[in-house]
Amino acid sequence: MFYSDYHIHSRFSGDSNEDLIKIIEKSIELGLKEIAITDHLEYGMKDLSSAWDINLDEYVKEILRLKEIYKNKIKIKLGVEAGVQPHTLNYYNEKISKYPFDFVIASTHGINSIDLAFGILQEGKTRDEMQDFYFKTVLENVKKFKNYCVYGHIDFVTRYGGTKFRGMDIEKHMEVIDEILKEIIHSGKGIEINTSGFRYGENRVYPDFPILKRYFELGGEILTIGSDSHQKEYITKYFKTAYEILEKLDIKYITSFEKMKPNFIKIR
Ligand SMILES: [Zn+2]
Ligand SMILES: [Zn+2]
Repeated sequence: MFYSDYHIHSRFSGDSNEDLIKIIEKSIELGLKEIAITDHLEYGMKDLSSAWDINLDEYVKEILRLKEIYKNKIKIKLGVEAGVQPHTLNYYNEKISKYPFDFVIASTHGINSIDLAFGILQEGKTRDEMQDFYFKTVLENVKKFKNYCVYGHIDFVTRYGGTKFRGMDIEKHMEVIDEILKEIIHSGKGIEINTSGFRYGENRVYPDFPILKRYFELGGEILTIGSDSHQKEYITKYFKTAYEILEKLDIKYITSFEKMKPNFIKIR
């Protein structure tokens, strides 16, 4: 049985219609002790509907209400997935400080206000150039932004742009990846294992095994596991693989968060 799922989207996200009660009931049924609802807070992206920049007043109120109702059955964490870009950090700092968040995922979904999913950023670049561009942006984000708990799906740049951009020669990017991981660790932050790669035909978790291995070699300790589900059916999907990876790396703890403070949970 799995302990928690720390990356779940609900109908408050621009790309999900899932009902919160259904998510909670499903998580209880799965025997989870904790879940973090991490709806998208995505600001400063061109051509993205305003639904992505969620109404935090409403969202926070609803999560806190459900947190209280279900407190004897499951711990519900007030989370958010902040789609940070180097030029939007002030916005996120302001929003995140305003509410009693337990858990914040920082993710790079776009660069220069353009969503990676649109395929525009990839135009005229080779796969290596695109990945280098992406990782350098992530590095800039982790250097400048500190209002988060874990960095989301660190290498998911391979998901977008078509088959030409799939796969990665990790060795070519290891230097900048190392810098990213070191910055995260030295800032007292962590990363997540995001199992959604399997749903997007990538047949792997984010980040890929060599990056996870490197994270722990460099002294990384804080780690959450998340399905990135937008439908309740995906909650804890492919977690068996994530747990197997941790076993292979001899990692015995995952992290839970309360008001942004990490707590270590023994998983085996
Ligand atoms: Zn994301
Ligand atoms: Zn997500």
